[in-house]
Amino acid sequence: MNLLLRDGDNAFILLPTMRRPLTPGKRFRVLARDQYVCQYCGAQPPNVTLVVDHVIPVKEGGSDSEDNLIAACVACNSGKAAKRLERIAPTPTSTARLARERRNMIKAAALANDAAQAIQDLQQSVVEVWCEIRGTERVDRSTLSVMVHYAKLYGLETVGDWIVRATMRFPCASDRKIGRYVSGIRRSKIEQGTLIS
Ligand SMILES: [Zn+2]
Repeated sequence: MNLLLRDGDNAFILLPTMRRPLTPGKRFRVLARDQYVCQYCGAQPPNVTLVVDHVIPVKEGGSDSEDNLIAACVACNSGKAAKRLERIAPTPTSTARLARERRNMIKAAALANDAAQAIQDLQQSVVEVWCEIRGTERVDRSTLSVMVHYAKLYGLETVGDWIVRATMRFPCASDRKIGRYVSGIRRSKIEQGTLIS
């Protein structure tokens, strides 16, 4: 099976899946995560031998990522076709895994929250810079969003310089006109090759 992945404008061809042995480290991490308990039947060594099993088989496109790996006894591993994961009663291990997933989700939400806060802070800084340079107390909303976008790309100081230049050129112009002039400065810098777009 060939997979074609797209990442922006870059396309990658993934070669047909080859069965590679799992590294000992990964095997150990999966078994330790599952606390050396067969996740299908609950059996433990020394009564059984544990192996690391692919939840979605490799030939069906399952990966070697740890999310797709699970501790299983040899009997469950070999007779897996007849078994269904959802038949298994929740074990302390699966409860621990759910707790871990939940914790990861909370962490991701906190990061997203930090990012939103950072954008809000940047927006506030752009408003302050704009109002200080222009000697006003407000800024046109759509002009602001363009300036915030530039500040994300090039930094607040650069955008501040452009606003100063635009304001010196057109001291009494509207916000939108200043915004257009700033966009013009950016465009000419990109054309000169001194700025990335
Ligand atoms: Zn088992």
